[in-house]
Amino acid sequence: MISLPQARIRRLLNVMGDFLFPGNCPVCEGPPYQDPNTYLCEACMDEVPWICSSGCKLCGLPMSGLGFGGLTCAGCREGDPCFRSGRCFFVLDRTAKKLIHELKYHGVRGILGDMPYWLDRAPGIRAFLKGSVLVPVPLHRKRIRSRGFNQSLWIARALSKDMGEGTEVLELLERKRDTPTQTRLDRSSRKANVKNAFALKPGTCFNGGKPVVLIDDVFTTGATLDSCAQVLVESGIDNVNVFALGHG
Ligand SMILES: [Zn+2]
Ligand SMILES: [Zn+2]
Repeated sequence: MISLPQARIRRLLNVMGDFLFPGNCPVCEGPPYQDPNTYLCEACMDEVPWICSSGCKLCGLPMSGLGFGGLTCAGCREGDPCFRSGRCFFVLDRTAKKLIHELKYHGVRGILGDMPYWLDRAPGIRAFLKGSVLVPVPLHRKRIRSRGFNQSLWIARALSKDMGEGTEVLELLERKRDTPTQTRLDRSSRKANVKNAFALKPGTCFNGGKPVVLIDDVFTTGATLDSCAQVLVESGIDNVNVFALGHG
């Protein structure tokens, strides 16, 4: 048996990885595949500010120095959403923003192949989602036409794939109005912008029982998720929760 130093083995694996999956790390665009099993390089994966501790009950935001079990952050107290609880994978810093940007605007779906690693890095999220009905925040059909995909549906599918049996994706909602982007709006304008923008999709049926988790790419003020939650709550579903990749 030939013994190779670790670094050489790693290099060899990198070369093989590059051959099989050519391309660079989508976040740092640096040397690709330091770990041939993941899409993001390990350094970028380490840099993402994963939420590892308990946070605000409604959005998952961590607050240093406070154990937030059952408490809510200032933003959620002000927004007073109708969903019961919420979680996010990470806080949106530069690395995390780039990650979302690549997924949302460049359609780099391969990023979501790393979902099992993300779930390992943010403890508690598997338990939070397991056995739920995952409902992606819908895009308006005009937006689907121009973008070609709904990133929230992609995220929901990647999550349910990891969860396995008992966790399903249902597209219960549709977007009635093509609302302008929320990016530059303040909290109250965001709320007004998405008010009544969503409705139950005609012909969909959901026979209760399971908790529902709305899925989005980012949680900013929670206005979009709350507007979706209101439609579900008004239709008689009372256990409505939310999940987003990033908070910020
Ligand atoms: Zn990287
Ligand atoms: Zn909160």
